[in-house]
Amino acid sequence: MKILRTNKLQRVLTRLQKKLTSSKGLILTYHRVAQVKRDPWCLCVTPQHFNEHLEVLQKYYNPLSLQQLVKALGENRIPERAVVVTFDDGYADNFYHAKPLLEKYNIPATFFISTGYIGQNREFWWDELERLILQPKKLPEKLRLTIGGNVYQWNLDQAANYTEEDCQRDRTCKTWKAKPGSRLFFYYSIWQVLRSLLKEERQKILDEILEWAVAEPTPRATHRSLLPEELSALAEGELVEIGAHTVTHPFLSAQSITLQRDEIKQSKIDLEQMINRPVTSFSYPFGDRSAETIEIVKNCGFNCTCSTDQDIIWPKSDHFQLPRFDAENWDKKQFENQLLKWFNS
Ligand SMILES: [Zn+2]
Repeated sequence: MKILRTNKLQRVLTRLQKKLTSSKGLILTYHRVAQVKRDPWCLCVTPQHFNEHLEVLQKYYNPLSLQQLVKALGENRIPERAVVVTFDDGYADNFYHAKPLLEKYNIPATFFISTGYIGQNREFWWDELERLILQPKKLPEKLRLTIGGNVYQWNLDQAANYTEEDCQRDRTCKTWKAKPGSRLFFYYSIWQVLRSLLKEERQKILDEILEWAVAEPTPRATHRSLLPEELSALAEGELVEIGAHTVTHPFLSAQSITLQRDEIKQSKIDLEQMINRPVTSFSYPFGDRSAETIEIVKNCGFNCTCSTDQDIIWPKSDHFQLPRFDAENWDKKQFENQLLKWFNS
C-alpha cells in the first residue's frame, strides 16, 4: 500500500513539474497529407489543413528538427514552444503534398519509412484490409480463417450489408471506437488479428479475404507508398530527415529478438543505401516495444526513437521513448486550441 501511495504521489509531482516547466516541447505525428474517401485511422490531414497547421507553427511556435530537439534535450535547454513535425510509414503523398508545404514555411520534418513498402505494388496492409472490408457492398455472412493453427470465425449478421450511407457515416469514425456488430467493428476485429502476424502469413490471409469478399485486387494509386526515386527526392535538402520504421511494419514485441533485430537493423541499412546519408532516428510501428526492443534500437546505432505515447517532451523525457501527439485533420482554430491544450497539460 505504501509503495502504491508513493507512486501516486510521484505521478502527481511529475505532472505538476511538467506543467510548471517552460522548458518543454512536443512532437507531432502525421501520416498522410491527402484527401481520401474513407479514413478509418484518422491518418489523413488535407493539404489545406496541413498548410494551416504549418502557418500556426511558424507564427506562434518554435519549429525544430527532431535532431535539434534531441540535442537540446541532452543539454537540458529545450527552447520554449518547441514543436517537431514527424511523419510515419512512407506514403507517396509525403513527397507530393507535405514537402512543398514544409518548404513554403521553412519547417523541418522527420519522415519515418517502412522500407519493405518502398516501390511495392501493394498497399499498406491496413489500407488493403480497408479496401476489402469497408467498401459499400454486401459480404458473405460468415468468415472463417485459420491463422497459426487457430480457427477464427466471424458472423457478420447485420454487418454483412453495408450501404453507401453506412460508409459515409463511418467515413471519419474512429475505428477503435466502433460499435460492436458494425462493419467497422468487423474491420477492427480482423485488423487486431492481422497486426501481430508476420508479413508472409498476413499476405496469405489478405489474399483469402480478397477472394472471400470478391474484391478488386488492384491497389489504389491514392494509397501508394513512395517509389525509391521519390524517397531520394524527399530526402534532398536540409529540411528533411529520413528515419527508420522497420522493414515490414510488424508489432515488434510479439516477435522474436532475432526478428526484431533484423527488422530494425535492415531498415537502417536499406535507407542509408537509398539516401546515402546516416539514419539515426527510429519510430516504433504502432508505438509498440518491449524492454528488449529498446535495447536493440540502442545497439543498432540510433540516437533517438519516437513512440506513440501522448505526452509532451520535457527535460526528463527518455531519448529512446520520445512521446508524440497525433495531429488530426483539424482546421487552424482547432489546431491552435489543441496545441495550447497540450502545452498546458
Ligand atoms: Zn507506422
